[in-house]
Amino acid sequence: MLTKVIEQSNVEHFAKWLGHAEKIVIVSHVAPDGDAIGSSLGLWHFLNTQEKTANVIVPNAFPDFLKWMPGSKDILQYDRYKEFADKLINEADIICCLDFNALSRIDAMADAIKNSPARKILIDHHLYPEDFCRITISHPQISSTSELVFRLICRMGNFSDITKECAECIYTGMMTDTGGFTYNSNNREIYFIISELLSKGIDKDAIYRKVFNTYSESRLRLMGHVLSEMTVYHDYCAALITLTGKEQKSFNYIRGDSEGFVNIPLSIKNVVFSCFLREDTEKPMIKVSLRSVGTFPCNKLAAEFFNGGGHLNASGGEFYGTIEEAKAVLEKALEKYKPLLTAKK
Ligand code: 5GP
Ligand code: MN
Repeated sequence: MLTKVIEQSNVEHFAKWLGHAEKIVIVSHVAPDGDAIGSSLGLWHFLNTQEKTANVIVPNAFPDFLKWMPGSKDILQYDRYKEFADKLINEADIICCLDFNALSRIDAMADAIKNSPARKILIDHHLYPEDFCRITISHPQISSTSELVFRLICRMGNFSDITKECAECIYTGMMTDTGGFTYNSNNREIYFIISELLSKGIDKDAIYRKVFNTYSESRLRLMGHVLSEMTVYHDYCAALITLTGKEQKSFNYIRGDSEGFVNIPLSIKNVVFSCFLREDTEKPMIKVSLRSVGTFPCNKLAAEFFNGGGHLNASGGEFYGTIEEAKAVLEKALEKYKPLLTAKK
């Protein structure tokens, strides 16, 4: 049995909305990851079984390694089909906001969502949600939004409507937001949910291979390159990897090729904090990704030094300047956070 994480009043409120609604729009954050796509498509499959007209809209492209997911071809990209997406957003009865906590996380879609007369519900697990939805289901202690979608469907009494396709999407989100159940994944109820998803016929081993083992040769060579250039700050139990625009060109980089790189330095003994700086090719900025193991607060450092935020162990931000300047800022941050940067237990 699962603990009742989501408040009963929220479950009932959403179920009541669903009873009256026909058109439902599901939106998720910019640069959608496995949990953004997994939770959105999981909910989309479920709504299809309820005979609703549902559409998933995301701000921009999502990585190729998620394109096998059932329903992914029906996802609408706002940066490509703005006019049609705006129409759907305006005419929706309900808008479900998944896996983000602030309108700024949906970039160019923010105004359309804010101004739509639709009823809005937030389902998310990031800290400090903004107050822009009538129903806010926010549970930062839950490791993925996909898990929350599963819990919500079950609490409405609809477990039997979860199809194999729906289960595959939910599983993918749970798996990717925990690095294949290697972090943020000690809650034993996660494994109860996996067991329930397996009962729907999913092949979890195949899903793992499809997500993590279908990379290109150039990605693997790029990985070798960035790791050989890695800086390890032994006195701070930290490491830094960087990727310039020039390096991206010479390795035929495509979006998603560096996905997960930031986690690799954490496999070094005693490294508890990892930073990845990547020159963005679309905007003149450095994308900052931060990861930690244990109690080191990436989100605090991200907010204080890189205008960002996120979870304790996985955060990000943006830096306007060169990679060298971003590196200097990181080194300043390491100095400030030195007391918290101690070896793994
Ligand atoms: P990633 O390193 O995978 O891009 O991001 C990891 C997590 O950090 C995301 O799930 C999100 O919570 C947070 N994050 C990433 N980039 C930003 C950003 O620019 N601003 C904020 N506030 N959070 C971010
Ligand atoms: Mn998530």
